[in-house]
Amino acid sequence: MAICIYCSQNKTLTREHIMPAFVYTYQDSISNSKSIGWREKAQKVLQGEAVIKDVCDHCNNVVLGTLDAHAKSALEKAGAFTPNFNKSTVDFEYDFNQYARWLLKVAFNSSRASGKHLGVFDQYKDLILDKNKNYSSFIITGGLLKPYKLTKQQKIDHGQSLFADSSGYVNPFFSRVSWAQNLPNDISVKQIVIGALVFHVVSFSPNMSRVRKRELQKEYLKMCKGMAILNKGSSRTKLSQLPLTFVDSMGPHMLREEVKPHMDKLLTSC
Ligand SMILES: [Zn+2]
Repeated sequence: MAICIYCSQNKTLTREHIMPAFVYTYQDSISNSKSIGWREKAQKVLQGEAVIKDVCDHCNNVVLGTLDAHAKSALEKAGAFTPNFNKSTVDFEYDFNQYARWLLKVAFNSSRASGKHLGVFDQYKDLILDKNKNYSSFIITGGLLKPYKLTKQQKIDHGQSLFADSSGYVNPFFSRVSWAQNLPNDISVKQIVIGALVFHVVSFSPNMSRVRKRELQKEYLKMCKGMAILNKGSSRTKLSQLPLTFVDSMGPHMLREEVKPHMDKLLTSC
């Protein structure tokens, strides 16, 4: 018995995946032992099936499990579970309350696992449990990674295992959670990548004025070009391709030397 991080009750604690099990299940279903070169590097980013053990059975399976189920169906509908994502836009359909809570949960999970920025997502515990509906101190945004063109040699070496199309374009399925750095002090951004879909939870410091939040939101959107805001009043948002491939989004784990867009400099692995 110990204290559950969510409901603060003294209960038997269970293991909670940082990224829900359905993500790993899909990843495993397409993983290919032939793809050693690229995947070995990707594995370091994925950090395996990272779990934390500070959530009680009820919070984990009843409350958080419902959010996982919603996210799974929204991501499935968007076509996220494919070995080579080639759409340039997606009409992403979701229930704002459930999807936002899911992203906040994943962000909070990864903060606890890494021990970084714990205070930022701690404030959303009641919201994640649906005990309040105060959406005022964060926004969520989304976009798509664009396909990466393999060189001739890369196509020969890895084309098959990365499910490259006939022109050598790849946009493989992988998942990761990372922090954006070098942002203004009053704002924290967690990036959650599921296949080609990229989501940001942009959290403002508590008690910030509306005017300041608007300013920061503008600044953020300028830095993270192409990210679309998922508005709390809507249930459908068009996600478009970002100037960023899966290789770029791996930040320090990148596999090539080209100049990367400004946004990528902001992102490091958690
Ligand atoms: Zn609990």
